[in-house]
Amino acid sequence: MTAIASVCVYCGSSRGANPRHAEAARELGAQLAGHGMRLVYGGGRIGLMGVVADAVLAVGGQVIGVIPEHLQVQERGHRGVTELRVVASMHERKNLMFELSDAFVILPGGFGTLDEAFEMLTWRQLRLHDKPILFLNTDGYWTPFDKLVEHFIAEGFVRKNNRRLFAMVDAVEDVVPTLLRQPAPAVADSVERL
Ligand code: AMP
Repeated sequence: MTAIASVCVYCGSSRGANPRHAEAARELGAQLAGHGMRLVYGGGRIGLMGVVADAVLAVGGQVIGVIPEHLQVQERGHRGVTELRVVASMHERKNLMFELSDAFVILPGGFGTLDEAFEMLTWRQLRLHDKPILFLNTDGYWTPFDKLVEHFIAEGFVRKNNRRLFAMVDAVEDVVPTLLRQPAPAVADSVERL
């Protein structure tokens, strides 16, 4: 079993067209706080990012936001969080979010969300870390992504075993139990080689 004190949530800077995604983000925030898990996220007030942060704060949970200086206005840096870490660049943001977190949960999002998720996947593939990565597949949002990965495997560009680099669950209630069931990390976390 993995000890998980901090969970990084990657998600859209938009709310998306389907209101169930915001509902799931809200529910996830409540569940994380209920399990005493600290939220690490992109530090903004907008989109699903703002929804999940506000949901954790609403029940007295801990939230660390990590936002680049140049996005403070665009993503509306959240002044109500437990701690807002303002960094100089996107790379610094991703590194710090990685270092502060024991696991990664990916909610619906666009290019930015995928960029962040892929970086954690590729670093895990390279055995630079072994922290759990979990996609929340609300209303099948990530099913096309899962199919794309199957295509990569069928075409011989991703090893079959590497499908295990991430998990996917349909129901928000399954997120925390699934994270807690993940085996303890098999490799030492190391950002030295990044
Ligand atoms: P999106 O899914 O496109 O709405 O973006 C979600 C979040 O990802 C936003 O907070 C973006 O600022 C962030 N983002 C986009 N690209 C990157 C990147 N290269 N590194 C770190 N964060 C990023």
